[in-house]
Amino acid sequence: MIKVYIGLGSNLDDPQAQLKKATVALGTIPSSSVVKTSSFYKSKPVGPQDQPDYINAVVELATGLSAPVLLDYLQGIENEHGRQREQRWGARTLDLDILLFGEEVIHDDRLVVPHVEMHKRGFVLFPLEEIAPDCVIPDIGSVHALLQQVNTDDMVKLA
Ligand code: ATP
Ligand code: MG
Ligand code: MG
Repeated sequence: MIKVYIGLGSNLDDPQAQLKKATVALGTIPSSSVVKTSSFYKSKPVGPQDQPDYINAVVELATGLSAPVLLDYLQGIENEHGRQREQRWGARTLDLDILLFGEEVIHDDRLVVPHVEMHKRGFVLFPLEEIAPDCVIPDIGSVHALLQQVNTDDMVKLA
């Protein structure tokens, strides 16, 4: 089994409910199980500012699937949540990104792992540090050190 971290995000149609439902759906992916789920965090949007605040979380999944097959399942769950792909970084019901896939480094047309922006994003690093304080991003550095360099002022941990 490979240890995978998945970033969850939503800012439409009751984002907290979207994330709760998504964590349940992640547990139904074949040959996979949810190991840990972070708290939910609220933050301001990246990209276009004329959209609602985001709720984000990170889930640790143990999987026997390959990365591309896992991505197929994640996109299937996004579609079940009514994900529309319109404006880049625009509002969405659910985003499921593969942040880390074990130690694997992947660069192909469909998949870049570690996720290319993760080390710059407080809304990824903050929940990741909560469930994986010793986590290291291959070729980049420790989550703990990276968190010192990003702005997390806008982040609010939800009860
Ligand atoms: P961002 O990648 O900046 O977080 P986004 O999550 O909104 O943006 P999407 O519309 O969800 O982007 O995905 C666009 C494409 O990104 C997908 O079709 C997928 O093939 C590709 N992709 C590349 N790397 C990854 C990854 N690590 N996890 C998920 N999708 C990825
Ligand atoms: Mg994303
Ligand atoms: Mg995505």
